[in-house]
Amino acid sequence: TERNREGYAPLYNPFEQFFSRYVYRRVRHCFNRPISSTPGAELTLKERHTDDYNWSFRFTGKEKRCINLGSYNYLGFAEASGPCAEAAEAAARRYGLALASSRGELGSTPLHDELERTTAGFLGVEAAVVFGMGFATNALGLPGLLGSGSLVLSDENNHASLILGLRLARVAVRVFRHNDVRHCERLARAALAEGRWTKIVIVVEGVYSMEGSVAPLAALVALKKRLGLYLYLDEAHSVGAMGPRGRGVTDHCGVSPRDVDVLMGTFTKSFGAAGGYIAGSEKLVDWVRARCHAHGYAHAMSPPVAAQVLAAMRAISSPVGLKRVARLRDNTHHFRRRLREMGAITFGHEDSPVVPMLVYTFSKMAATVERLTERGLATVGVGYPATPLNKARIRFCLSAAHSREQIDRCLDSIEAVVEEVGLRYSRR
Ligand code: PMP
Repeated sequence: TERNREGYAPLYNPFEQFFSRYVYRRVRHCFNRPISSTPGAELTLKERHTDDYNWSFRFTGKEKRCINLGSYNYLGFAEASGPCAEAAEAAARRYGLALASSRGELGSTPLHDELERTTAGFLGVEAAVVFGMGFATNALGLPGLLGSGSLVLSDENNHASLILGLRLARVAVRVFRHNDVRHCERLARAALAEGRWTKIVIVVEGVYSMEGSVAPLAALVALKKRLGLYLYLDEAHSVGAMGPRGRGVTDHCGVSPRDVDVLMGTFTKSFGAAGGYIAGSEKLVDWVRARCHAHGYAHAMSPPVAAQVLAAMRAISSPVGLKRVARLRDNTHHFRRRLREMGAITFGHEDSPVVPMLVYTFSKMAATVERLTERGLATVGVGYPATPLNKARIRFCLSAAHSREQIDRCLDSIEAVVEEVGLRYSRR
């Protein structure tokens, strides 16, 4: 181990330190960008002095109204007015913002109970339990679910919250190539032949947050049934957004939700709220309530948040909500088609509202975000460590809140920037 002058090992890994001090410093204006509006179809960016590296921003006093292609507001429910916001406001007036208690103590209201029953009905399973934070639903749910002796087969692109959950669970993990069911099957068969695992669990996402790809759910369900495995599915980006009825990737793939052992999802994307859920059989949910630290030892979901999610979930089940689901799909198809026609490299499933555009390098990522902002378009650039070092990308998120005219305006700006920055990698 490298030692510093005093003879101690350095606190930071030298490569990571180089990366954060020199690379991120040069692109700092693309990150931590404060906003002063709801993250709707448009948002307001607050301009700050670009030499501020930390979080105590000095604002220039200027603001920029932009079309928003960066927030995960897939169905447009993250808004400050309308039925969802009114339900949240009424709940805040009745219960306050916090219950000052965990669910198992004095932190359950009729709203929580109703939300859990509605979530189970929405997903088409027996029961559900909700948590105050989506990330913690995975990070603390997995250790509650998996005991020693379990083996997890994990997709290589799984989200940080899943990876952290598996580490906290202290289970054996074997990683299979992204969406490669045959590789997963090979690992499963090898593990079964070892004969020492009490259970084998496949952990995947519905829509992958950096790729926009969709899990091959039908094949995974067939595999787990054939070999006697379990399946844990994270639907953070797919619930509400995928499938003809917006019920997620099971709806999209035509798979029965009851064939997935553990359905996990968050309320931070399609529902415009916060928190997460674990859903499945009554037995599973009872077990999670008893075992998961996010239930017993963490603050309950805030009541206005529960009210917002309930209102959004009911709306998705109504004809008006279904129109939003259909509009999201139309917007996504149109956006993806034109992006391809420009010659930009984009990937992921045609229906996925997460649309990555590959720019490869950090410098191009920064230049693209900057130039799009100048043209009134708020976007998010992602790179290492969220992606491989040489696969930086712009991650566009489509929304049902966007009008066709707004999307066309965005596409015109993107086309100009693709030309300026040199992002036309494939032939038209
Ligand atoms: N799972 C996945 C696949 C995610 O992408 C995210 C975050 N975007 C989470 C879990 C964590 O959820 P939250 O942001 O709601 O805490």
